Amino acid sequence: MTAHAKYPHVFSPLKVAGTTLKNRILMGSMHTGLEDLPDAAERLSAYFVDRARGGVGMIITGGIGPHPTAGHGAKLLNDEDAAMHRQVTDAVHAAAPDVKIVMQILHTGPLAGTPDCVAPSPVKSRIGRFAPNELTEEGIEEQIAAFANCARLARQAGYDGVEIIGSAGYLISTFLVEKTNQRSDQWGGSWESRMRFPVEVVRRVRAAVGPDFIFVFRISAMDMLQGGLAWDEVVSLAKALEAEGVDVISTHFCWHESFVPTIATMVPRAAFAQVTGRLRKELTIPLITSNRINMPDVAEEVLAQGHADLVSMARPMLADADLVNKAFEGREDEINTCIACNQACLDHTFTGKLTSCLVNARACREVDIAITPAATAKTIAVVGAGPAGLAYATIAAERGHRVTLYDAAQEIGGQFNLAKRIPGKEEFHETLRYFARMIQLRGVTLRLGTRVDVALLKQAGFDEVVVATGINPRTPAIEGIGHPKVVRYIDVIAGRAEVGQKVAIMGAGGIGFDVAELITHAGISASLDVDTFAKEWGIDFRNHPRGGVTGIEPQVASNGREVTLLQRKATPVGQGLGRTTGWTHRLTLQRRGVKMVSGVEYHSIDDQGLHCTIGGEPQLLDVDTVILCAGQESERSLYDALLAEGIKAQLIGGAFEASELDAKRAIQQATELAAAA
Ligand code: FAD
Ligand code: NAP
Ligand code: SF4
Repeated sequence: MTAHAKYPHVFSPLKVAGTTLKNRILMGSMHTGLEDLPDAAERLSAYFVDRARGGVGMIITGGIGPHPTAGHGAKLLNDEDAAMHRQVTDAVHAAAPDVKIVMQILHTGPLAGTPDCVAPSPVKSRIGRFAPNELTEEGIEEQIAAFANCARLARQAGYDGVEIIGSAGYLISTFLVEKTNQRSDQWGGSWESRMRFPVEVVRRVRAAVGPDFIFVFRISAMDMLQGGLAWDEVVSLAKALEAEGVDVISTHFCWHESFVPTIATMVPRAAFAQVTGRLRKELTIPLITSNRINMPDVAEEVLAQGHADLVSMARPMLADADLVNKAFEGREDEINTCIACNQACLDHTFTGKLTSCLVNARACREVDIAITPAATAKTIAVVGAGPAGLAYATIAAERGHRVTLYDAAQEIGGQFNLAKRIPGKEEFHETLRYFARMIQLRGVTLRLGTRVDVALLKQAGFDEVVVATGINPRTPAIEGIGHPKVVRYIDVIAGRAEVGQKVAIMGAGGIGFDVAELITHAGISASLDVDTFAKEWGIDFRNHPRGGVTGIEPQVASNGREVTLLQRKATPVGQGLGRTTGWTHRLTLQRRGVKMVSGVEYHSIDDQGLHCTIGGEPQLLDVDTVILCAGQESERSLYDALLAEGIKAQLIGGAFEASELDAKRAIQQATELAAAA
């Protein structure tokens, strides 16, 4: 079978280090937490084998430490460790002999999170737990030897190559930047001396692994850090690494401390590929680009424009292990697209939880959740086509059950139809496109515009009923809550409610923030336009100042509405948002002048506005509109009526539990139950 004609660049092979990559898409490195589990070999094998069978050309593993000080993740220090890795590489090669698996070597340096962490200078990272210990010259030699030993063991363990990460604020990159390298010996000071550590690591690694072993080096092509790398330094580093025998340069756009989002959903697709393209003109070896490339057409365009030789897709491989095969066969409408929410991947990683994926709950849980043919095909009614109902219905149907999916609305999606209207959340359309296609493919009978009641279900006589009826927005019991200036978020987002010039938003959870974004937004969504995104975050793609950032306070366009975001809790507003994305939402709204107030006690609403107490002081907020974003309560009227009739039903999603509900939990619960139905 030949590759689909839409992707000629994606499906052209590439010769690297005496071997051939069958296509131009690789799975980028992600720390999943599987590496640290007692049954790591079994779980990693299942996880990577799924992706290898899914058609990707090369897999880069999560970061593996070369030295005891490298950080809290797994390490490869000796033959015993290598034996565990051997099980993984054997499994991948047996399942897909034409797929390469490359191990990433990661030394997190000052971000190791342990008191023995090391760095060129004792400069504490803003996000590090400890000030690092300054490496002595002997210590530096020990680290270089450790990189070489780790690479040698990787070859012994059956990997096809190694990637060394020299970016993001980890050990190697801290040698490069003046802010973190304040040494005056041969390892610091001039650019040549600051560059010495990565160059020496590369020289020694190449010597340790020999030729014909894929050697990728990841550099910060734009580290988004004031005082970061200048463009001529990036170029000179890349050239020096090429001269020392690196086979492929991978461009990274990241320094974990930076205040610029680089992979969140608000980042336009492939926004950074142009930087790789500029560097590609300076080198002769292949370059990898990355960041927000989540669909095959985006990868094809990046390659066709000459921005890169290879495209790294990391999170998209969590969302859909078969992404590449689907592109190969022209079935891209079946791809479960990564929406760049970070909710189940990076947010989990940074809070010590196992990585998974919001849109694919099987990711990293391959050995726990199997989607296998059902022993007995049943007729199942699923009521509610929000994320929970959609996941349940499509998976149950995949297993052979005869499923009818109902929704009172005229379209599938439930609250995702509101989410997709928020500027910056355009990717949510993809999830709905995916489920619509799965409904067709799996033969789910879809009944839209149908409000289900007990009579309907009784008449149809299903073997099982699943109630996924979602939630109702909470209406707090406050005097004047029925005043005409009080509106619900559902009506605001759906465009059914008028919003005045001066607004109070009651409730500062994810939805309060999204509503604030929607009602203050002006112009094109930054997530759809690279120039607007660059302006909003102070990035200068054209002139590439140090770190790529201008240092000028970024400007975010606003429509001039005066908005106050309120919550009762005394904690900082927005604290409960996603670990890796919450700060971007807070900063954007602050730059639009949105006021954020915590510790509020609401009293009443009348013609004058919202009467409340803030920090013990009575206040009157003179507002035209009060938008209720005060959480949700489960919609269980159908379930309760079924129970009253003695009809058993299963509750999922928001209908099961509204508190702390999000789509991640809704889809995960639905997936687990449907896999067992
Ligand atoms: P719902 O999505 O509420 O779906 C329930 C469905 O049941 C509805 O379509 C309804 O019409 C239908 N229904 C109800 N009763 C009946 C009946 N009797 N007969 C037939 N049909 C019926 N979550 C995240 O994880 N990340 C985000 O970034 C995010 N952003 C959001 C942004 C906004 C603006 C909103 C509003 C929500 C957001 N969410 C987000 C929350 C997420 O959408 C919900 O957690 C999720 O939709 C809950 O899924 P559900 O299937 O349980 O319910
Ligand atoms: P939420 O996060 O639970 O926030 C509800 C808000 O309402 C809180 O600020 C809460 O704060 C307030 N509140 C609760 N009861 C109240 C009452 N009786 N009176 C007044 N205020 C009250 O829920 P949400 O914002 O509705 O979001 C729903 C779900 O969607 C969340 O789980 C969220 O994770 C998800 N979501 C996620 C994102 C994302 O970007 N990841 C975006 C949107 C939504 P106080 O009690 O302190 O006042
Ligand atoms: Fe992508 Fe969100 Fe899944 Fe992470 S959790 S892989 S960002 S869809």
